[in-house]
Amino acid sequence: MQEEHYSDFAQALVDWFGKQGRDYPWRRTTDPWAILVSEVMLQQTTIPTVLARYEAWLAQFPTPASLAAADEQAALRSWEGLGYYRRVRSLRAAAIALCEQHGGRFPGDEAALRALPGIGDYTVGALLSFAWNRPAPLVDANVSRVFARVFNDPTPVDSPAGRRRHWELAARLVHPGNPRAYNSALMELGQTLCTTGSPTCLLCPVRAYCTATNPEELPVKLPKKEITAIEHWDIWHCTADGLLMEKQPDGRRHEGMYRLPRRAAEEIADLPHLCDQKYSVTRYKVTRHLHRADTATPQAGECYIPLADLSHTPMASPDRKLVQKYLPR
Ligand code: SF4
Repeated sequence: MQEEHYSDFAQALVDWFGKQGRDYPWRRTTDPWAILVSEVMLQQTTIPTVLARYEAWLAQFPTPASLAAADEQAALRSWEGLGYYRRVRSLRAAAIALCEQHGGRFPGDEAALRALPGIGDYTVGALLSFAWNRPAPLVDANVSRVFARVFNDPTPVDSPAGRRRHWELAARLVHPGNPRAYNSALMELGQTLCTTGSPTCLLCPVRAYCTATNPEELPVKLPKKEITAIEHWDIWHCTADGLLMEKQPDGRRHEGMYRLPRRAAEEIADLPHLCDQKYSVTRYKVTRHLHRADTATPQAGECYIPLADLSHTPMASPDRKLVQKYLPR
């Protein structure tokens, strides 16, 4: 796209969004807390899943102060089903910083926002444009795909050069008068028409400016990391004291959460086999073999959780499913 068309491109997106923009609860608010929560949830979770949880979660934690006052276990428990629990930890850290440093309110200036825990370029752009309608750049995977095609750019979008170029473009292209609608439109174009694979160019509001010759082949990405298969052997040991579980230590992916205890394969191979559970996490394909143990010696970090407490004990979805399946009724 030629530079002389930048402002027409931005205006075409804003006009299209005015007529066709989707209605989401986070688009009906300018409350920076509600916007931050939606952006954090949407980072690695699909829109339908977020829609099912967003308003109930906000009703539980309607302000930074409400989340700052909750203990970490309650915050983790509230996030179950959304996955990637470090997000709620960093949301809580941001809420605590807002309360301690800004009286529970959001600072309006960019440097102070950027200093909050877990707030990076994308979130700053989202807060400034969606909460305050300020012309701030914003790039996510959808925006990158649109830029790669509009500019017919073969630079890998996930390379440092690709990322730098797209953030520079985003800053130059943002609509000065209506950045809120413009940034929403750009992301929505990537979600609805300029999609992965075959885009729907015939309906595209910026088709006149797009220079993609083979849009199906864009964006280019760096080669993917290989999927690694891993296996775990876990035990189900339930007694009158409760279910034996292991608390994840600091520094682990699920820090502060509980999971079924892990054992060496040869140690539990002869115990009754309950099930094999398969799931994927990032680039790992996990197979978990669960065996029932009638006796067990608790190891470091392991303890019995009374059955009545399991419903509010934080655990990742795979563990929650097993607990719900095998818990005595
Ligand atoms: S014309 Fe097609 S490839 Fe270009 S931005 Fe629109 S949907 Fe994407």
